[in-house]
Amino acid sequence: MKLANVEGRACVVSAQGGFDVATVSRNEFSSSVDDLVTRLVELQTWVDATEPALDPALSTTALQTELHRLGPPVTRPPQIFAIGLNYADHADETGMELPTQPMVFTKWTSSLAGPGAEVSLPADTVDWEVELVVVIAKGGRGIAAADAFDHIGGYCVGQDISERRLQMASAPAQFSLAKSLENFSPIGPWLTTLDELEDPMDLAIGCRRDDQALQQSRTSHLIFDVPTLIEYLSGRVELLPGDMIFTGTPDGVGVGRRPRVFIEPGWAITSEIEGLGQMQNTFVD
Ligand code: ZN
Repeated sequence: MKLANVEGRACVVSAQGGFDVATVSRNEFSSSVDDLVTRLVELQTWVDATEPALDPALSTTALQTELHRLGPPVTRPPQIFAIGLNYADHADETGMELPTQPMVFTKWTSSLAGPGAEVSLPADTVDWEVELVVVIAKGGRGIAAADAFDHIGGYCVGQDISERRLQMASAPAQFSLAKSLENFSPIGPWLTTLDELEDPMDLAIGCRRDDQALQQSRTSHLIFDVPTLIEYLSGRVELLPGDMIFTGTPDGVGVGRRPRVFIEPGWAITSEIEGLGQMQNTFVD
């Protein structure tokens, strides 16, 4: 199932079309995506039983051309975790040692934005980081890696946009501040449950500017994979329904290039993960 936030209302969407969950269920289910994150299994059962009529205007193909209508598929996560240096090639390009345990920071919730969000550039040192984002449906402490998938609501595409000068303005570096500016955490285009994916551990991930590839990898190259991250985090912090994990970015970021490249006004960056869809974010002065 794919759950989208269309103009503030939860909609189930598919290649054939979609429907407004609250309207069609006569309010048996909420119109808020945040309320539905904990009820995805129940919602799927109801959809299978009732087979609601699909509006082609709410097909994934139609919505991919109207990303401005979409908000983030979860709007008020209690906590957002983000992982640094979680692909070996990216750790290499930044000149950092490979981590022996996950390097964790946060992106504050006020930075969340929809998949078509326009980002105002606050500096000339803003960088891109396409990431797989995991949404937790069932929280807990001490979750074993083997049980991790039972706690996941779904995946979406994310960008961990980063203001590098601000990130390095203190020592140690201040990741959370530099990655939480306005609209610095676009996610979407919708939440995709894992049953839609052939292999949720191995998805092509990348981003591009026009036809120029910026990043291209596979999520199977994560140093700490999704189950390991859930075990590691829940062994230390209680995971709550709606929480998100930005799982880290592959190589190809601007700060890793020689010469360095940063986002300029007028750029549009398309971020895509196999099976999850595409976001397109534009950047202005
Ligand atoms: Zn990142």
